[in-house]
Amino acid sequence: MSAAIPMLDLPRLHRPLATAFHGALDELLESGAFIGGEAVARFESELAARVGAAHAVGTSSGTDALLAGLMALGLKPGDEIATTPYTFFATAGVIHRQGAKPVFADIDPATFNVDPAALEAAITPRTVGIVPVHLFGQCADMGRILDTAARHGLWVLEDAAQAIGAQHGGRQAGTMGALGAFSFFPAKNLGALGDGGAVVTNDAALADRLRVLREHGARPRYHHALVGGNFRLDALQAAFLSAKLPALAGWEEGRRRVVARYGELLAGVRDLVLPDEMPGNRHVWNQYVVRTPRREAVVRALASAGVGHAVYYPVPLHLQECFAALGYEAGAFPESERAARETLALPIDPLLEAVDQERVAAAVRGALEDTKKGDT
Ligand SMILES: *Cc1c(COP(=O)(O)O)cnc(C)c1O
Repeated sequence: MSAAIPMLDLPRLHRPLATAFHGALDELLESGAFIGGEAVARFESELAARVGAAHAVGTSSGTDALLAGLMALGLKPGDEIATTPYTFFATAGVIHRQGAKPVFADIDPATFNVDPAALEAAITPRTVGIVPVHLFGQCADMGRILDTAARHGLWVLEDAAQAIGAQHGGRQAGTMGALGAFSFFPAKNLGALGDGGAVVTNDAALADRLRVLREHGARPRYHHALVGGNFRLDALQAAFLSAKLPALAGWEEGRRRVVARYGELLAGVRDLVLPDEMPGNRHVWNQYVVRTPRREAVVRALASAGVGHAVYYPVPLHLQECFAALGYEAGAFPESERAARETLALPIDPLLEAVDQERVAAAVRGALEDTKKGDT
């Protein structure tokens, strides 16, 4: 039988960069500067330039980028933050960890991103901020979200973990709100060889606060004006990220090619809805997520064909056990709950070959089409 097709073939993606990675490690071994130092400062300025932000502050993960971002914005117990229930756990986990309350609003089924009208309706006098998520690599409807924020005097922290390089109305993901958080988890479009993250901002005071917070709030060392944490990006990961950053644009093009081929290979399949790039958006396709009411059949077919697949995400956050005290019931957010039942991510890899994609598509079609008469 043919070789398995993973969701993302990282060894293949990294092979051309192996020499650069080894060089970065050798350089760091010679310098001995494992924490902070030149490698981190260099990557931060490259990242800021890449996304068009005035400041970038490297962090230990995307989660810690969000957490440090919230700490920099300053929350009080009882503060409410409006966000989406259809996202990775970290988005709401960090809000809870800061003693604030995530208040969820349902999603737009066409984009899986928060519905701006529902978001507006979730604002209360206790709301202090909005955390929109640019899910799967496509920006949320930031025009309307920023408008809501401005009218209610709220800050916006963008969870751009999956969306480096994405754009909305020509503006870069992460740079539209007060702060933007990126993740360099290996499966993100720009992944470290381990954990990493960053916060970007155009606000010098917030950037400065973040730099203090990521060192346990110390400045100078051992003098703590704030309680922060160890949220630092490793120098080694920064060096690896600098080695990968020049390849990001090419990988983005590769992902777009893969998406275009899926569009041809999967057009017109019964009970299958393909993802779309909204007008005015540049989608960077961190994930290629289809939906089907017959997901189990597709999952079985992909598994037996050796094709990687994943469900992002099977349980929306308002129904997570740890958030039971928030008091949400099943049915509260029908579109998020339907997405959790129907979505399925297919392999999306900048270097995915056409023959492999044809195998993915054949498995999907085979599972969803009753009759065995080929096309249409
Ligand atoms: C990956 C991700 C995070 C967390 O990033 P880590 O680097 O894994 O901590 C946060 N939010 C979203 C939407 C993510 O996809």
